[in-house]
Amino acid sequence: MSTRVALLGATGSIGRQALDVVAANPELELVAAASGSQPLDGVAPLTQVGGDLTELLERAEPDVVLNAVVGFAGVPATFWALERGVALALANKESLVAGGDLAVAARERGGGPLLPVDSEHSAAFQLLDGRPRETVHSLVLTASGGPFRGRDRAGLAHVSPAEALAHPTWSMGPKITVDSATLMNKGLELIEAHFLFDLGYPEIEVVVHPTSVVHALVRLRDGAALAHVGYPDMRVPISYALTYPERAATPVEPLDLASGLILEFGAPDTEAFPCLGLARAAGEVGGTAPCALNAANEVAVAAFLHRGLPFLGIPEVVERTLAQADTGPARDLEELVAVDAEARRTASALTRQLVH
Ligand code: MG
Repeated sequence: MSTRVALLGATGSIGRQALDVVAANPELELVAAASGSQPLDGVAPLTQVGGDLTELLERAEPDVVLNAVVGFAGVPATFWALERGVALALANKESLVAGGDLAVAARERGGGPLLPVDSEHSAAFQLLDGRPRETVHSLVLTASGGPFRGRDRAGLAHVSPAEALAHPTWSMGPKITVDSATLMNKGLELIEAHFLFDLGYPEIEVVVHPTSVVHALVRLRDGAALAHVGYPDMRVPISYALTYPERAATPVEPLDLASGLILEFGAPDTEAFPCLGLARAAGEVGGTAPCALNAANEVAVAAFLHRGLPFLGIPEVVERTLAQADTGPARDLEELVAVDAEARRTASALTRQLVH
């Protein structure tokens, strides 16, 4: 019997690669597809452009939801799947960043699997799967360092959107590519990992690894460390999440060690790239601080791409929005939506000040 897949965010980078993965695997049946604004002619029996994605999911009755929506807009679909115990392949990291506590509770109620599609988290999931929590010392997430690795603040002052969009190792959509350039992507992933794996923030380390071959590493209490190694290709984590626990074949080349792999690691420069520290601090504060962080970042990244906000204005907007945000816990999705909206208003006002 085939697995019924609903794909949300079908025209983005993850969405298009997911369509390839589904097309190549006869066990996977695409029953619904949605996009934010781009047309989806005949991609799936049920399609939807914009609007409330949970309505589409109600009609589609999927076995697995692949949520590859960009940003906070993906949150309701995440909760829909978690509450119902429908398997969730999660590429929308903002769901766990903004609504982590609520998502963990919804998953406990629903009881379905939550399979991360982020490459680092898919790797960490595979390294941690079935391993008793008390044997784990810590988790290491790798960051490519993005296109501006090695620059200091002065060297970042005048970088353009085009330069920020030229990622050295991963081919991704514009929002996540800018997040990679600021290291906010790794900050969001740090918070995502905290909620996915029930690890405290001090137990999650971020290291810069420019070639993106090691996706994550787990240190165990006996001194052993296990690394997940592979070419940077999102079809691997997408396929893993959609076929778990079967692990289907993909067209991705086996790792070629004879031709040489460069495995370099180093500490991130948190002075030049303050977003990583801002995310860690928001995670430690907890409550709705990560929700406000995420909202401010979405506003700032859009302003950097389209309205002339300087690159270093992104962390500035995020930091100042967080300073003004109410960071108490959210009781439900409506409260989360309100915190998100308020942080967006604050960030938009700050952005206008910094552009003029
Ligand atoms: Mg990632």
